[in-house]
Amino acid sequence: LSTSGDSIRKRFLDFYAARGHKVLPSSSLVPEDPTVLLTIAGMLQFKPIFLGKKCIRTNDIENVGRTSRHQTFFEMLGNFSFGDYFKQDAIKWAWELATLEFGLPAERLWISVYEDDDETFAIWHDQLGVPANRIKRLGEEDNFWTSGVTGPCGPCSEIYYDFHPEKGHSDVDLGDDARFIEFYNLVFMQYNKKDDGSLEPLKQKNIDTGLGLERMARILQQVPNNYETDLIFPIIEKASNLANISYTLADESTKTNLKIIGDHMRAIVYLISDGVFPSNIGRGYVVRRLIRRAVRIGRLLGIKGDNIEGTFLPILAEEVIKLSTNIDPEVKTRTSRIIDELKREELRFVSTLERGEKLLEQMLTDSLNKKLPYLSGKDAFLLYDTYGYPVEITKEVAEEHGVSIDMDGFNIEMENQRRQSQAAHTTVKLSVENGAEITENIRDTEFLGYSTLSSKAVVEG
Ligand code: ATP
Ligand code: MG
Ligand code: MG
Ligand code: MG
Repeated sequence: LSTSGDSIRKRFLDFYAARGHKVLPSSSLVPEDPTVLLTIAGMLQFKPIFLGKKCIRTNDIENVGRTSRHQTFFEMLGNFSFGDYFKQDAIKWAWELATLEFGLPAERLWISVYEDDDETFAIWHDQLGVPANRIKRLGEEDNFWTSGVTGPCGPCSEIYYDFHPEKGHSDVDLGDDARFIEFYNLVFMQYNKKDDGSLEPLKQKNIDTGLGLERMARILQQVPNNYETDLIFPIIEKASNLANISYTLADESTKTNLKIIGDHMRAIVYLISDGVFPSNIGRGYVVRRLIRRAVRIGRLLGIKGDNIEGTFLPILAEEVIKLSTNIDPEVKTRTSRIIDELKREELRFVSTLERGEKLLEQMLTDSLNKKLPYLSGKDAFLLYDTYGYPVEITKEVAEEHGVSIDMDGFNIEMENQRRQSQAAHTTVKLSVENGAEITENIRDTEFLGYSTLSSKAVVEG
């Protein structure tokens, strides 16, 4: 059986189609709900009707290339039930998919359940025969899903693959990236959380699952990380060629940078394809930040474009587009729009970068001469305000020189300016932390409309 990313996607869908699921088409990264920034999981899509499998998680941006398993853009395959099957079938099928369809050895699979969820523990243990020493009980943070302060919620259960079973069963941390990878997450939506915090059982119970395609590909293709799967690696190879380096021979930090490029290029192309164009607010700022980071890192790696202007994002985007057929066939039809947008944004940013870079170098030298281990908030703000130099990049460059930024000072400057301008325009989202906040806040929206639905579904390729 083939283990290419494309066939894993197809095998997943066929597996659930054979178990009575209706296959629904993939939908946009831009949710229909305007209060939701970007699709971070399959579930949100259900507020209207569609299922989605392209996901963006800006809160994982710091992990990109640093852990073996996180991207900002990834595909989540999901099977869903609305008042149809529940825990029993969801768990049994997930187990069959993993062990029979994908052929993973049962003894390499570990399970997490929510600490109080004895029912789920019993299904794994008594019915499927998973030994108790491979089932971990985790707390609310990891294994309890809520849609907000109140509303539908319930325990989760996850399946992990063990790359090093020889390490045994004592002192096990499922979060250990070198040993384990979580690949399948099952959410059992069984309660409604009320204003007083109490949990009331839902009449209609729902199942929402997510299986990370790149993670499964990584396991089955036996490569060291998600980036080296056939879903992402061709982009990395292209970037390496343009930079005239060999990925295999490269040092760790170069590899990390190449992985970041591989990830960000995918995110950028799919965002633009779904109609998110670079700007200074909201979603547009997410894509702008990803583009700028890719450009800066590409330059650091010495990537050269092959056209007169020397832009390289369009070349890498072509590679992403080539791989897009089975992820989202719409992407190819939007090629020229994507390429044009990227060329323009890259040129604009490069000129900003060149001016900002010079000034920042000067500021960093001054700080180091004065033996100050940080850059003042005023300096960072000047770069941002006058030269349009993104503060995240100032922070990254400064950190590369062992210098930190006085972010409090920076924020004070921002605040002052805001007050002075007295303009009521939308705030620019500045940091990864804020990015995470946006995506967290959106979960506060209620889920309506399940009560009338009763169906099971699976995400289509
Ligand atoms: P982790 O604990 O590894 O960060 P998670 O628990 O945050 O993962 P979920 O929210 O449960 O992830 O998402 C469901 C599935 O989607 C995960 O089991 C995993 O296979 C996949 N996934 C989640 N985040 C990422 C990511 N940043 N990159 C690639 N795949 C991911
Ligand atoms: Mg996570
Ligand atoms: Mg997890
Ligand atoms: Mg999880």
